Amino acid sequence: MLDGLSFNLGSAGGEEAVEETQAAERGPRPEIENVIIVGSGPAGWSAAIYTARADLRPLLITGNDVGGQIALTTEVENFPGFDSIQGPELVERMQRQAERFGAEALIDYVTEIDMAGPPFTVRTAGGLEFKAKSVIAATGASPRRLGVPGEELLTGRGVSYCATCDGFFFRNKDIMVIGGGDSALQEALFLTKFAARVRIVHRRDQLRAGVTLQRRAQANPKIEFVWNTVVTSINGQNKVETVTLRDLVTGETYDTPTDGVFVYIGHLPNNELFLGKLALDEDGHLITDKLMRTSVPGIFAAGEIQDHRFKQAATSAGQGVAAAMEAEKYLADLEDRTYPGDEGTHAEVKLAA
Ligand code: NAP
Repeated sequence: MLDGLSFNLGSAGGEEAVEETQAAERGPRPEIENVIIVGSGPAGWSAAIYTARADLRPLLITGNDVGGQIALTTEVENFPGFDSIQGPELVERMQRQAERFGAEALIDYVTEIDMAGPPFTVRTAGGLEFKAKSVIAATGASPRRLGVPGEELLTGRGVSYCATCDGFFFRNKDIMVIGGGDSALQEALFLTKFAARVRIVHRRDQLRAGVTLQRRAQANPKIEFVWNTVVTSINGQNKVETVTLRDLVTGETYDTPTDGVFVYIGHLPNNELFLGKLALDEDGHLITDKLMRTSVPGIFAAGEIQDHRFKQAATSAGQGVAAAMEAEKYLADLEDRTYPGDEGTHAEVKLAA
């Protein structure tokens, strides 16, 4: 078993010494965790805040993309309570808040969850193995790829899925953004800080994005729209040089020079851990009920791994809260404790004493 110190991510607020002391005071991790949270986006950290405040001492395993998608976005203007906040700062604040209440985070990647439980067995890429009475799956989603020739080869050489990470390298350059949703427009607007020109290539002649972003993008002199058009290949030797586009109305295919291609065409749920183990919908999201329960009692899910509709930082946070509260009730049921104000049973499986 590892001691508390080994788990600390380090303070988002630069207060490592205080946190290490707190972790040391908490002592070693329990033999069987109450709850393991898989994923470190708004759903995961919100679940951590609530389970920590319920004194469950949650262990959050971050995954490879620490902070999830929100950590890769720029300005967030619709998270309640903040007029405007940068995505990375928002998630750092959540982490700090959760750690203040006793949540501990481990930077590692879960490779397997043995669903025969509780207790469930959680194994990580770092070679660790944990037992947990409950699990909250908050693995989120990853950017959808275009799937055209040249995309994979030129990723990191002009093809990007993260304007925040890579925009800086495109000062005074020509950029294409693919997609017509909120992400495409928001990140196109961000990229105008650097680029000389940003062309938004959309497969239809109507945007999916909300009206505020539409208005802003249409008013920005650096942004142009290329309507009814798809990318058929991305070309270049060691970096992006041209993109081949097909006009879906005229059928014309043509090459156009550009320096960068930023792809924002939606996301796919990160469900590898759950394939064949938990019920998924046809798009690969975990199926949950209103209590955020998956098809296996004791395994809850929150955020974009189970949400195919709202996909907002705020809704993911709310789902994380709900999953945490239901996990708490489930744990109370396992111990034959009555959860205050709750008559129903949340645990169909009793944990052996
Ligand atoms: P999205 O809303 O699903 O939009 C994806 C866009 O990509 C759509 O315009 C879609 O075209 C296009 N697309 C999909 N597959 C394509 C393909 N193979 N080739 C070309 N184009 C393709 O995804 P998102 O923009 O990432 O947003 C995800 C969620 O996050 C949404 O709920 C959104 O509201 C939210 N979000 C909100 C904000 C904000 O409020 N500031 C910012 C970012 C994201 P069609 O329109 O033709 O389907």
